[in-house]
Amino acid sequence: MDDKLSNPKTTIEIIKKHKFIFQKKFGQNFLIDTHVLDKIINAAQITPDDMVLEIGPGIGSMTQYLAETARQVAAVEIDENLIPILKETLNNYKNVQIIHEDILKINLEQFVRQNNGGRPVKVVANLPYYITTPIIMRLLEEDIPIDNITVMIQKEVASRMQAKAGSKDYGALSLAVQYYAEPYLVANVPPNCFIPRPKVGSAVIRLTRYSSPPVKVQNTKLMFSLIRASFNQRRKTLQNGLYNSPDLSFSKEQIAKAIEILGLPATVRGETLTLEQFAKLADIFSLPNGNPF
Ligand code: SAM
Repeated sequence: MDDKLSNPKTTIEIIKKHKFIFQKKFGQNFLIDTHVLDKIINAAQITPDDMVLEIGPGIGSMTQYLAETARQVAAVEIDENLIPILKETLNNYKNVQIIHEDILKINLEQFVRQNNGGRPVKVVANLPYYITTPIIMRLLEEDIPIDNITVMIQKEVASRMQAKAGSKDYGALSLAVQYYAEPYLVANVPPNCFIPRPKVGSAVIRLTRYSSPPVKVQNTKLMFSLIRASFNQRRKTLQNGLYNSPDLSFSKEQIAKAIEILGLPATVRGETLTLEQFAKLADIFSLPNGNPF
C-alpha cells in the first residue's frame, strides 16, 4: 500500500477533489494517523479468514487497512455524499462491499447470516460519537454473531465501559458492557490524529464477547432494570433508588428484605454493587411468588 488514504495530504486532496463538506450531525472526524490505524488493526486480531463489519467508513481510510487484512469487509455508511467517494477510493479492493445505510436500522443478524454463513464477524470502527452507546448496545444485546468489537470512541466513554464498582466512572454502561464482553483499552488518541479535530479526547477500546456471561442470572431484563434504577439516583441509597423507579413496583419492605438477604447494609449505595451482586439481587427478586417476603 504506497499511498494510504489516511495520509493527511491524501485525505485533504480527496476532500477537495470531491468538494466534500463535513457534516457535524454525522459525527465526521476522519483518522489521519497511520500509527493509530496500525494499532487498531493489530488489536482487532483480524485473520485472512475473517469478515469485518465497519461502521462509518468515511472516505475509506480504515477500510483500506481492513481490506488488506481480512477476507471480506462490509462497510456501512449513512452519508450519501461519501458513497461515490468510497467507490472511487476503494475501487481496487474487490473484497469490500459498501452499504449505504443507517447502522441502527440495518438487520445485522440477517446480514451476518446471509453474508458470513452465520459465522462470527469482527466489528471495527472509528465510531460517530453521537451514537456510540446505542450502536455498542445493539451489537452486544442482539443475537448477532460477533467475536470482538474494536472501536474508537470518546475517551470518557471508554473509561465508563471499563470502570469497576465504586469508581467515579462506574455506571449502567459499565455493567451492560461487562456483562457481555471483556473490555481492553488499546490506546488513547489525541484530537490531532483527526480531521477536523474533535473537541474531546478519544480512545480505542476492544470488547471481546464472552461465549457465556461471567455471571448467571435468571431474569436479565430485571437485572438491567435494577441497574438502571440504582444509577438513576446516584449518591442515593440503593433502597431509595429501587423504590423510586417507575419501572419497578417492589414495596419498601420487599426491597429492604432483599438487601438484607444480599448481606448488605440498609444504607448501601447502588454504585458500590458489583455485577455479581446485581445478578444476585435480581435472583432474590425472582424467587417464586416474590418469596421470601
Ligand atoms: N472511518 C472513517 C475514518 O476513520 O476516517 C470515518 C469515521 S467518522 C468518526 C464516522 C463515520 O460514521 C462518518 O463517515 C459518518 O458519516 C458515519 N456515520 C454516522 N452516523 C452513521 C450511521 N447511523 N450509520 C452509518 N454510518 C454513520
